Amino acid sequence: MVYACEEHVDIALDKIVYEYETFPHLTKIDVENLSTTCEFCENPAVYIVANK
Ligand SMILES: [Zn+2]
Repeated sequence: MVYACEEHVDIALDKIVYEYETFPHLTKIDVENLSTTCEFCENPAVYIVANK
């Protein structure tokens, strides 16, 4: 799965589709959970994009 901020969620979705050839499952992270950073930048992740 891929962690992404608001800005990079589209890239994360494309990455999952490309790598796993499946429709990605998008989950919004709880706002209080700021320990995870975006895979594509240094911002806190807002979404988890999973391949199942
Ligand atoms: Zn980002």
